[in-house]
Amino acid sequence: MNPFTLHRPSAIDLISAMLASSSDPKFLAGGMTLLPSMKLGLITPSDLIDLTSLPAFGEISNEGRRLSVGAGATHAAVANERRIRELCPALGRLAGKIGDRHVRNRGTIGGSLANNDPAADYPAAILALDATIHTDRREIGSSDFFRGIFETALDEHELITSIEFEAPERAAYAKFPHPASGYALAGVFVCRGDSYVRVAVTGVGSDGAFRLQELEGKLEAQFEASVVDTIDLSALEFFEDRHGSRAYRENLVRVMARQAIAEIAAVDGA
Ligand SMILES: Cc1cc2nc3c(=O)[nH]c(=O)nc-3n(C[C@H](O)[C@H](O)[C@H](O)COP(=O)(O)OP(=O)(O)OC[C@H]3O[C@@H](n4cnc5c(N)ncnc54)[C@H](O)[C@@H]3O)c2cc1C
Repeated sequence: MNPFTLHRPSAIDLISAMLASSSDPKFLAGGMTLLPSMKLGLITPSDLIDLTSLPAFGEISNEGRRLSVGAGATHAAVANERRIRELCPALGRLAGKIGDRHVRNRGTIGGSLANNDPAADYPAAILALDATIHTDRREIGSSDFFRGIFETALDEHELITSIEFEAPERAAYAKFPHPASGYALAGVFVCRGDSYVRVAVTGVGSDGAFRLQELEGKLEAQFEASVVDTIDLSALEFFEDRHGSRAYRENLVRVMARQAIAEIAAVDGA
């Protein structure tokens, strides 16, 4: 690994001076993606700005059903936090299925969103929850945030500070994990409110995670898993690789969607 200077800011407003004095700085959150890339020499930042020392950066709070999750919240914190378990348990269960214990204890929701891996779990949840991403400069709606594989609306050195959303009445996430990596070969997050259904898919799109609007409309009319059989996926851009053909991934999306819908329907019917 190339040498670099490590900064540990004790407040967000100290970061801009650190960025200005660095030739090629990078934020360091959990380091689960960044450090392996540096070890492989794929990136060679001059300075790392360690976000883990920022006070309250991982704080999770709520006002009624409106939840705010600090960007520095680890996957383990999201999985175990009482407010999330009570108000949006599906998000907690999603976080509890990311990677292994080490990844969950280090990796952060902010790092995952900034990275926007096409097989990451959170993007499906953030889209289906219609969350707002707060940065040190502005607010970005989830529908504007993801811009393609490993691309987001973040400007250079723009810092995600928190993620905010209204907890849906019901939600469920079904994921078919890659057997080796644990990343989603396909993951479907479904939210159901009084007057809406939102469905988002990760793991299969050649532009990353996306909303499945045809299914949303049909589920709003009839919330039943069998509706999945009536949707047409042929116009959507799927990628294919040695882990799965388009047909295989299409089938996984249908199976995961049915599972998530059935989970919600079972609770509704209980
Ligand atoms: C073995 C393994 C298995 C994994 N399995 C899964 C899985 O099943 N599902 C899944 O979704 N993910 C998985 N991951 C990815 C994991 O969730 C990572 O934690 C995540 O992608 C990166 O988050 P991080 O906090 O470690 O960020 P870092 O690696 O520290 O940073 C990643 C990038 O984001 C930038 N960044 C970090 N925080 C911010 C911020 N607040 N604002 C702006 N930019 C920021 C950094 O500068 C860097 O460019 C896995 C990773 C590993 C190593």
